Amino acid sequence: MGGACALALARQGCRVGLLEAEGWGLGATGAAMGHLVALDGSPEELALCRLGLERWKELAPELGAALDMTTCGTLWVAADDEEMELVRPRCETYRAAGIRAELLDAAALRGLEPCLATGLAGGMLVPGDAVVYPPAGARLLAEAAARAGAELLCGRRVASLEPEGLRLDDGTRLPAGRVVIAAGSDSKRLLPDLPLVKRKGHLAITDRRPGFLRHQLVELGYLKSAHASREDSVAFNLQPRPNGQLLLGSSRQFGDESPDLRPHLLQRMIRRALAYVPGLAEVPVLRAWTGFRPTTPDHRPLIGPWPHRPGVFLACGHEGLGITTAPATAELLTAWILGQAPPLDPAPYLPSRFPEVARA
Ligand SMILES: Cc1cc2nc3c(=O)[nH]c(=O)nc-3n(C[C@H](O)[C@H](O)[C@H](O)COP(=O)(O)OP(=O)(O)OC[C@H]3O[C@@H](n4cnc5c(N)ncnc54)[C@H](O)[C@@H]3O)c2cc1C
Repeated sequence: MGGACALALARQGCRVGLLEAEGWGLGATGAAMGHLVALDGSPEELALCRLGLERWKELAPELGAALDMTTCGTLWVAADDEEMELVRPRCETYRAAGIRAELLDAAALRGLEPCLATGLAGGMLVPGDAVVYPPAGARLLAEAAARAGAELLCGRRVASLEPEGLRLDDGTRLPAGRVVIAAGSDSKRLLPDLPLVKRKGHLAITDRRPGFLRHQLVELGYLKSAHASREDSVAFNLQPRPNGQLLLGSSRQFGDESPDLRPHLLQRMIRRALAYVPGLAEVPVLRAWTGFRPTTPDHRPLIGPWPHRPGVFLACGHEGLGITTAPATAELLTAWILGQAPPLDPAPYLPSRFPEVARA
């Protein structure tokens, strides 16, 4: 998020410094799947995703091959007739938002992905969705920002906001007319009143099986899991990596801030995946890891001014969509900072929509 914002601001002629405490893409970004997905949890979510996807496609040629972008599309899988009923209105929602979506019956679904189990009801293809390699994406955005004139300050940690800018943990004071807080879940360390919590996720990656899978597969119940309230949840999500590996997601947990793997959740993820793709049983899992999604109470990000300090802006809290929506967030934020016309209605993302922020 920081890299995308620095790039957008530098391109508009702002003098920008991009501070990163650890290394490019080592936060939630490095743990993510990199699915650039038009998700329709709400009209606001879909609008931000759609703009993000468009901007990633414009940026990709400049960022280069290391981004590993493939427009593999998303295949939403309906397990039964009840889920199939939900596909029809979703197709309409996508089309109304200007996003291509195709309704698939059972035969068409298996025709596109023969590895899927028999007996599934059908699904929906969103062909414009894509996949990138997020850790590389973070570095490439920072490098592009530097080419546009931004100064990269990697290995420098912000300790606090000061009236005239920032103080770093080594005591250095950096003057800044505007400050953008894009520190993911750690943004709360700088502004403790932010309504942000960590939502843990597990992923696992397999050995290489080129040609096994061509689309990102997601079960139709994924949205229910993404927007579920407090309980642990698991939803089937399988991604073909360009090198032939298969990336398997994903779990969602509140209240567990340890990075340790929880074998029972990994087991649930794998069992669920086998129900959709039985042939996965023959593909060894090589590695599994966890990451933390920066989550707000209404699952929408915090983009815009911090109401209590003129000159401080937020670009954080993107939960499970921060890769998809990074360039869109950057554009919205740049419009805020420079007083330009926003690319979409900024109101749904304003930090001040939360009473705790308004009261802080
Ligand atoms: C398992 C999992 C799967 C996901 N899959 C997807 C997906 O497929 N598609 C998608 O769109 N999104 C996905 N996400 C969500 C996505 O990863 C996040 O929304 C996104 O990475 C958030 O980016 P960020 O830049 O806000 O935060 P981070 O990536 O956490 O970056 C914050 C950065 O700020 C730095 N920082 C923190 N504090 C300071 C400080 N005081 N001073 C200086 N620097 C500081 C950190 O070192 C870090 O590098 C997934 C997340 C998880 C956990």
